[in-house]
Amino acid sequence: MESQQAPVAIVTGGSTGIGLSTVTALLAAGYRVAFFSQNVQHVQKAEDMLRTTADASAILTACVDVRSKPSVNAFFALVDERWERVDALVCNAGISPKDAHGAVPFEDVDAAQWHDVLSVNLTGAVWCCQAALKRMKPSGRGRIVLIGSVAGRTIPKIAGAPYVASKAALAGLAKSMVAACNGSAITINVVAPGRIATDMAGDPTSSTNLEALRRIPVGRLGTGADVAALIRFLLSDEAGFINGAIIDVNGGEFAPL
Ligand code: NDP
Repeated sequence: MESQQAPVAIVTGGSTGIGLSTVTALLAAGYRVAFFSQNVQHVQKAEDMLRTTADASAILTACVDVRSKPSVNAFFALVDERWERVDALVCNAGISPKDAHGAVPFEDVDAAQWHDVLSVNLTGAVWCCQAALKRMKPSGRGRIVLIGSVAGRTIPKIAGAPYVASKAALAGLAKSMVAACNGSAITINVVAPGRIATDMAGDPTSSTNLEALRRIPVGRLGTGADVAALIRFLLSDEAGFINGAIIDVNGGEFAPL
């Protein structure tokens, strides 16, 4: 039976990898979860899998291109219609195309490569945060988590400039939104994962991942569940005094003094 009291979380890019682990963790914690991604097969497969363990009435999905502000707004309107509240947003949708990932020298990055990555990783998050804050500000309550990256925290080892710039910019976006929410109980934080074994990171035995492994003190790649556990905490009531922070979850690969 669907509880009208259960908090509602929206997860972008929730059909695979870190996003799917987050959706799974939040459903297990009693949230109603709305998620979208772009690929219809990914969305369907995730929904079928989640329905084997979670109440179907606690799940809402759609295919949405996060780059499109009207599509993002339509998705939030769908959530309004179904559940009439938004308690939390996790901006996780992201891309890291090979040609924007270090394979192209910085001087040769063209407008299309730059725009592709920035429009998903940064601008897409802006459209979602605008829609979420419109719904959170009237009550003065809410939680937003943006998924950054270790690549945006230090001199990058693998990623190219568009990806690094998009992820580093999320920290500025978060701080600007914290200022815009001054005086409310809304919190906005960035979670910066290190190397996490997902489709984006590719084959765990690839030379890139084996090399990454040598940099990670805990001696393993991360899992989606490692990141989801932190996100779940940041969305909880206990995390109400953590705001405007960038929190690393990277096995010790990068730890600022
Ligand atoms: P995945 O590729 O598994 O997940 C990315 C998700 O984003 C997919 O669900 C994808 O959906 C969705 N997505 C991509 N483009 C769009 C779009 N235009 N509109 C809507 N959804 C879109 O990779 P991860 O789980 O690894 O990545 C999740 C986040 O974590 C990303 O932001 C990534 O940058 C970040 N990250 C990952 C790290 C890693 O090592 N894996 C390290 C640091 C950060 P679909 O397939 O349906 O298009």
